[in-house]
Amino acid sequence: MTNKKIKIGVLGFGGLGQAAARILQLKSEMSLVAVADHQGYAYNPEGLDPDALIPVYHQEGSSGYLPKFGVLSDNSIADLISKSDVDGYFLALPNLPNTFMADVTRQFISSGWQGVLVDALKRTSAVEQLLQLQDSLSKAGITYLTGCGATPGLLTAAASIAAQSFAEIHQVKITFGVGIANWEAYRATIREDIAHLPEFDVDKAKSMTDEEVEAFLDKTNGILTLENMEHADDIMLELAGICHRSQVTVGGIVDTRNPKKPISTNVKVTGRTFEGKISTHTFTLGDETSMAANVCGTAFGYLNAGIKLHQRHLHGLFTAAEIMPLFVK
Ligand code: NAD
Repeated sequence: MTNKKIKIGVLGFGGLGQAAARILQLKSEMSLVAVADHQGYAYNPEGLDPDALIPVYHQEGSSGYLPKFGVLSDNSIADLISKSDVDGYFLALPNLPNTFMADVTRQFISSGWQGVLVDALKRTSAVEQLLQLQDSLSKAGITYLTGCGATPGLLTAAASIAAQSFAEIHQVKITFGVGIANWEAYRATIREDIAHLPEFDVDKAKSMTDEEVEAFLDKTNGILTLENMEHADDIMLELAGICHRSQVTVGGIVDTRNPKKPISTNVKVTGRTFEGKISTHTFTLGDETSMAANVCGTAFGYLNAGIKLHQRHLHGLFTAAEIMPLFVK
């Protein structure tokens, strides 16, 4: 595999899935060969062209309509896994219901496929479900890296690095700002964010129609203010031995009507050094970097790292806080 391009599949072809396809256009080490969405999939071992695929998805509603390479299917993920030759998948799927990603993982395990899976899961309870699949993933020969988006993901990994200066960690505080031009480009992301608001939960947000989401956003002027979110950064940092999960907080502001970030995204790690000094490291993302750039870039960095682990027969579940992403050329 060293000289050959890594064959990539993207499951879910919404906002993040399409951005992932665009990112791969710029990469020489990876090639997009497979995508799947709710109604179908497209597969070409020679590579899929996002310039052809994305317009078809927008006009027809599914990659399954792509001439020559598209297939319509109600069971697109299972069909694609069984018919394609893919080294690693980025799971850009909604986690609605909150058990969906674990269900998809079980599908991979029972299919006999071997390779690398990467997700951008957000909720602690979703990562906990995957932890229960640790042994099954190992036995199946799958290397699965979870929590590999922006938060959790890039910012959790940054916290893991920042922690090294300290003898004791007191607090990890993640604050994110997201600006998107319209919520419909990232329906699952926005629904899942709404699910974190005090008067909502995952099932309620999942059952909302697009019109209901629209009406809700009208009331908030398109802004979502999120505090003390159930985010897997906490369990990931706990598993990495950095601090107790109660010391990690995540919150942010999402503007669904303006691509400009409402606030800068950052992670602050506060601790005590071996000399007894209390200090804070801050890692701030550039305001021009979009959610899609920070999530998908990170996911492919981890997918690349996962490929190296897989080649060394290291299988099972890993998190973004315990592995270094490897930049993809
Ligand atoms: P989206 O709504 O834009 O797209 C979802 C895609 O999944 C669509 O193509 C849809 O057809 C497909 N899909 C849905 N059900 C399917 C099924 N059963 N089989 C096959 N395909 C199916 O989603 P999005 O806004 O791009 O978000 C994707 C995920 O990324 C969400 O879970 C979101 O929470 C997560 N996310 C994570 C981070 C992070 O930093 N960790 C940031 C943003 C988004």
